[in-house]
Amino acid sequence: MAEQFPTCKKCNEGVLVPLSDFGGQGAPIHYKAWVCTYEECGFNLKIRNGEINSNEPVSDGSQRERRDR
Ligand SMILES: [Zn+2]
Repeated sequence: MAEQFPTCKKCNEGVLVPLSDFGGQGAPIHYKAWVCTYEECGFNLKIRNGEINSNEPVSDGSQRERRDR
């Protein structure tokens, strides 16, 4: 069975998918951020320096383009 992602609690339309990133020394950081796949919802959850930031505005360019459809 395929991996299942949690349903977005905000819109109940999309699912939250994990995004990974790479740290300063090239070490992979798995599941650094989670974003809702439902574009009109835009809910996102990010972990930065051990703190969880939820539903940040995504205008700073740190958000990757999603092309997973
Ligand atoms: Zn959502």
